[in-house]
Amino acid sequence: MLVMKFGGSSVADENQIAKVLDIAKGRAKRRPVIVSSAHKGVTDALLNAGKAAAKGEADAAPVVEKQRRVLKGCGCDHNLLDSFFREIEDLLRGISLVREASRRSLDYLASFGERMSVRVIADYFTRNGVKAEAFDAWDLGFITDENFGSARPLHGYEARMITEFKRRVGSDVLPVITGFVGKTSGGEISTVGRNGSDFTATCFAAGLDAEECEIWTDTDGVMTADPSLVKTAHSIAAMSFAEASELAYYGGRVLHPSTLLPAIKKNIPVRVLNTNRPEHPGTVITEDGGENPNMVTSIAYKENQAVITIESTQMLGQPGFLAKVFDVLGREKVDIDMISTSEISVSMTCPGASDLNGAVKAMEQFGRVHVVTDKSIVCVVGKNVKKQRGLGAKVFTALRDADVNVEMISQGANKINLSFLIDDNDIQKTIPALHDALFKA
Ligand code: ASP
Ligand code: MG
Repeated sequence: MLVMKFGGSSVADENQIAKVLDIAKGRAKRRPVIVSSAHKGVTDALLNAGKAAAKGEADAAPVVEKQRRVLKGCGCDHNLLDSFFREIEDLLRGISLVREASRRSLDYLASFGERMSVRVIADYFTRNGVKAEAFDAWDLGFITDENFGSARPLHGYEARMITEFKRRVGSDVLPVITGFVGKTSGGEISTVGRNGSDFTATCFAAGLDAEECEIWTDTDGVMTADPSLVKTAHSIAAMSFAEASELAYYGGRVLHPSTLLPAIKKNIPVRVLNTNRPEHPGTVITEDGGENPNMVTSIAYKENQAVITIESTQMLGQPGFLAKVFDVLGREKVDIDMISTSEISVSMTCPGASDLNGAVKAMEQFGRVHVVTDKSIVCVVGKNVKKQRGLGAKVFTALRDADVNVEMISQGANKINLSFLIDDNDIQKTIPALHDALFKA
């Protein structure tokens, strides 16, 4: 069995969905299972409508129009999705009446994107020579916890998937399953978080013991750097789970950070491919990742980070000081990435959007606290990083030559990443300069 996930741009319209059909036909012998995102822009439109509704303005039209365009383009029966349209209208009206959109109602609202797209795709496939059927992931065992907005499947989901799959999916149909959405055991709709369909796909791959999980997107696999900043960025043939996880976490734009966990657990290769150039071999991600001829594998970055610094003489010779600091941060739910400490200060980065007021107040008991924002973490990833003498010199020389100020540095203990902190404003010049220094022969 082969799990194939198609992202929003891969199923954006009839043109793209026709490409998906060709790709699936070419893989018919491998018993494909499709996991799909909503058509590009539909999830955003739904959530925007939710926000407007919470201010009293209920308007389903932008969503319905977007969805109708694809429906029509694909030649589906014009009333195929009418019951969904009505439900969206009702929901928006409900939100506008109470003027409040909880995480739970936003998940319910966002879920319509995938629920509608899989029905369009299955219908189009069936009329064009491939018998397909749409499934809501929860009907195939994707039951989650109640963490609306970032739900995770409940322990033991794999067994449930196998049972439900056997029971519901005929051997002669290609199942097209919703990414992103699930249901709690109480029957409420949840989502795994924005861009989470990759994660749904690897969960199904793990649950169904697939031979491979393909992630179809709009780049030729994972690139050496963000191609919108670096013209000479190129696709990476192979990398390890560990490298791909670091890249995803540090802002690599291709994979969602949680994507690889289910694949790692079952050791299932994940292949990233381009729907617009299916002949390109893309990037294959495996346990050992094969040989890489380059010094490093890729450069990622994450903008809009904040840095919290505590200066305190209490730190001097005080076992347990950091434990107290992290205890406070844990309680305040601040998600820390990079840390650096000296005798009298500790600096930590976290996403810039975090609400830090509570944490800062609570940490003032330890010393002077200040917060700066608009910083970026840049991360050089590669399993060869640990073997490279002089890599640091190369990186920091390139930064000096580009006139970039470095504020924090850390090399992960697993020695496959070297990260540092710079100003958001310096990203545009930093990434190309580093790519030149590390990838030019
Ligand atoms: N449709 C969802 C989103 O836009 C999930 C996904 O695309 O993976 O975030
Ligand atoms: Mg996406």
